[in-house]
Amino acid sequence: MHEFALMQTVLKLVEEKAQAHGLVRVTRVKLVVGKMTMALPAALELAFDALGRGTVAEGATLEIEEREVRLACPACGLEFSPELPHLGCPRCGETAPRLVQGRELYLDYFEGEDAG
Ligand SMILES: [Zn+2]
Repeated sequence: MHEFALMQTVLKLVEEKAQAHGLVRVTRVKLVVGKMTMALPAALELAFDALGRGTVAEGATLEIEEREVRLACPACGLEFSPELPHLGCPRCGETAPRLVQGRELYLDYFEGEDAG
């Protein structure tokens, strides 16, 4: 369940940032999750609900934007979305393309309410 570990990191960041901005409650959290992370949205939501209890983000809406895996071919320059599990370049057959998108997992933004 590496989603729990990932979510722990995200929630810690949300708490720090909420505190820095004087927010007493966080209402919405948006994450960008690349498919290469193998993190499942349903498991992330579960982790968010479980770990968010008792924190500033308790009851907040979690929004997840999934990013497709994108690869770039070093031989012919083509950028493409692979048909997993085949990672080779569809144009020239190069077998070791470079990952350009899909391994990211980050906090995009969050919204909340301040004390006033
Ligand atoms: Zn190629």
